[in-house]
Amino acid sequence: MKIYNTLTRKKEDFVPLNPGQVKMYVCGPTVYNFIHIGNARPLIVFDTVRRYLESRGYEVIYVCNFTDVDDKIIKKAVEEKVDATVISERYIDECKKDMAAMNVRPATIHPKATEEIPEMLEMIKSLIDKNHAYVAADGTVYFRTRSFKEYGKLSRKNLDDLRAGNRSLQVTGAEQKDDPLDFVLWKPKKDGEPYWESAWCNGRPGWHIECSVMSKKYLGDEIDIHTGGIDLIFPHHENEIAQSEAANGKPFARYWLHNAFLNIESKKMSKSEGNFFTVREISEKYDLQILRFFILSAHYRSPLNFSAELMEAARNGLERIINCVANLNHLTKGCQVGGTITENEKMQIEQAKVFTTKFEEAMDDDFNTADAISFIFELVKFANSIVNEDSTFEFLAALKKQIVLLSDICGLIVDKKEDILDEEIEALIAQRQSARKEKNFDRADEIRDELLNKGIILEDTREGVKYKRGF
Ligand code: AMP
Ligand code: ZN
Repeated sequence: MKIYNTLTRKKEDFVPLNPGQVKMYVCGPTVYNFIHIGNARPLIVFDTVRRYLESRGYEVIYVCNFTDVDDKIIKKAVEEKVDATVISERYIDECKKDMAAMNVRPATIHPKATEEIPEMLEMIKSLIDKNHAYVAADGTVYFRTRSFKEYGKLSRKNLDDLRAGNRSLQVTGAEQKDDPLDFVLWKPKKDGEPYWESAWCNGRPGWHIECSVMSKKYLGDEIDIHTGGIDLIFPHHENEIAQSEAANGKPFARYWLHNAFLNIESKKMSKSEGNFFTVREISEKYDLQILRFFILSAHYRSPLNFSAELMEAARNGLERIINCVANLNHLTKGCQVGGTITENEKMQIEQAKVFTTKFEEAMDDDFNTADAISFIFELVKFANSIVNEDSTFEFLAALKKQIVLLSDICGLIVDKKEDILDEEIEALIAQRQSARKEKNFDRADEIRDELLNKGIILEDTREGVKYKRGF
């Protein structure tokens, strides 16, 4: 498997630290509002990366934080005259609802910055002890950027160019910084702001330190994959590397993955321009599975343009897969229970496997979901061309399983059959038995079909009625 590593600007073979295990950290949203469709891109893309790694047999420990203390959260809390936690908890809940609707699985751990303050204080202290950080007169703690010799290795920025090129760096706290390039680890509270006590001042953490600390706490000093949108490369991820490597004395993340931006009508999303959609707004017009399909229809490193036309194309694409699966479900209704698969069908199932191989090759090539999905389409086309009323149950089930499995790796739900519990099945079987006793064979067949529609296949044996979950 090859992964494009922003650190080396190359596709590299993927070799995790511990065989069979992947430790992955995803920079999550700042929770001051509903997430927008741009924020949905990393959530969907890296959820798919996780699903694919799991399908290849890796155990994935997936950490995705919520930044729940930040200027924008505090501003909103002041506007609404509530505590900052009211705002952050509200939007964490809303974000989780959107994630579920996009079929983004919950992370193994979703840490919140405000719950990890003691560990942050510890890392900041260790940076001060190692002379990588210092305390200014007002109690602000700054990271001494030039003390980390490899600063700039991720973003390929040179410190002297940065110094010369970015005069704005001199603005905030310039008078008390040793160097304008130094950045904040801990800052004093302002009136009305949430704060925590520390040896330096009552205050709160800077943004970058939270990810270094949460990653260390839940995944260890060294991790396999660290991700986020492309805008996070500098300064956020550059600063995370500096903090983590200076504090731990070890390389931080082995592979850095960054998704490109989602734009609207070819323009950067911006509230002031009015070209800005929350996931919630989009959910009023489209099933969020369509948004997921749309996002995965491009490679994650390519910029992606959101438009109504492309969403319609995504709707059609997704429906093509769903319709194929529905047709396979429909055809099973006419199947003989216990019919034997034919030699020709066995051969066709072998032929169909080539699409799974191609799907995997595409995913192995830096998670190329665009190509991978095109092989699901090819599989669907192939399946549509070879099934008919005479197809056996086993054959239809094998084709469906293959389509559902590949779609599931992309987090796409394409089998619209309802789930059914054992008790419900047994109740329906009992009703069918009564119908048969009363010689109401139409009703008995109806129940058999109803169960078949839900993937349950009945077998009348000498010991009574048995059932199996077909697919
Ligand atoms: P934020 O809440 O701004 O920290 O963003 C959360 C995540 O969404 C980060 O990984 C950002 O890089 C990513 N992100 C923000 N805007 C976009 C966008 N328009 N397209 C793709 N990713 C984005
Ligand atoms: Zn982060």
